[in-house]
Amino acid sequence: MTDYLNDVREVIDDERNLAIIEYDKCPLEAGRVLDVLSALPPSERPFVERFRGLGENGKPATHYIIAGDLFTLRQTERLLAQVSNIPRAEFQQRMGQLLGYSAEDISDFIGSEIARNCPCTICGRDDLAAEAAAKRTQYHA
Ligand SMILES: [Zn+2]
Repeated sequence: MTDYLNDVREVIDDERNLAIIEYDKCPLEAGRVLDVLSALPPSERPFVERFRGLGENGKPATHYIIAGDLFTLRQTERLLAQVSNIPRAEFQQRMGQLLGYSAEDISDFIGSEIARNCPCTICGRDDLAAEAAAKRTQYHA
């Protein structure tokens, strides 16, 4: 399952540059992460940016980018903005590098069932899936 708190602690401790959390997947733990971040003195606080994407259930969800430095934050924003223009495996490769995974872990992931099928933005969802999900939500609203 998710271990957002551990991921974010590694960013705070400079062991990795980036963590991305899907708030709606695990609001309780995500809320704890946000509490930890806001309790830090500003000089130790990573960059935190909220964005709307697709969650692992294929529905719109709130995510947080937590980046140790501004360069990583900008690279992550740029990659996410290009999600529909980059082949899925390449997107996953670049996202995996930003998240600090080893080359071996990334290639294992790209070959996995999750990597092929997960509809979430972080796995490289395309815009058609996003539009369809948004329409479904509007219809039910
Ligand atoms: Zn995913």
